[in-house]
Amino acid sequence: MEHEAKNNPYYSRTDRTKLDVPNQEWRNILSPDLYAISREAATERPFTGKYNEFDQLGEYYCAVCGNHLFRSDAKFSSSCGWPSFFEADKEGVYYKRDTAFGMERVEVLCQRCDSHLGHVFDDGPKPTGLRYCMNSVSLEFVPDSEK
Ligand SMILES: [Zn+2]
Repeated sequence: MEHEAKNNPYYSRTDRTKLDVPNQEWRNILSPDLYAISREAATERPFTGKYNEFDQLGEYYCAVCGNHLFRSDAKFSSSCGWPSFFEADKEGVYYKRDTAFGMERVEVLCQRCDSHLGHVFDDGPKPTGLRYCMNSVSLEFVPDSEK
């Protein structure tokens, strides 16, 4: 599967070195949709994302930098309209308190490139009870068959 950022010199699925790339530069590299979501914390419309109803086996990477974020085993079908996971790669993401729009939420960001990915809520299924509510645009799926 092709990823959104073909001419992206920072993209790597193996290098986990922290990136420090200004938004000015990301704007030239990323598609407008991916830029708006990853760098400006926009949200894709519910039920529109390519991974919302999607249950193939494989790995999910950050569409901006290639950092590993989720395994398909942790994906579950949620009615919220966005791809949902109950567990993230601990080395893939970090969290930030988000009080935008008068809501108390926890933002999920990529550890390598600091991109916004979505939010995490505590109404998910066992074993974690968490629901990582992600934007499809921020994710890149690689099926096990391609490994
Ligand atoms: Zn990233």
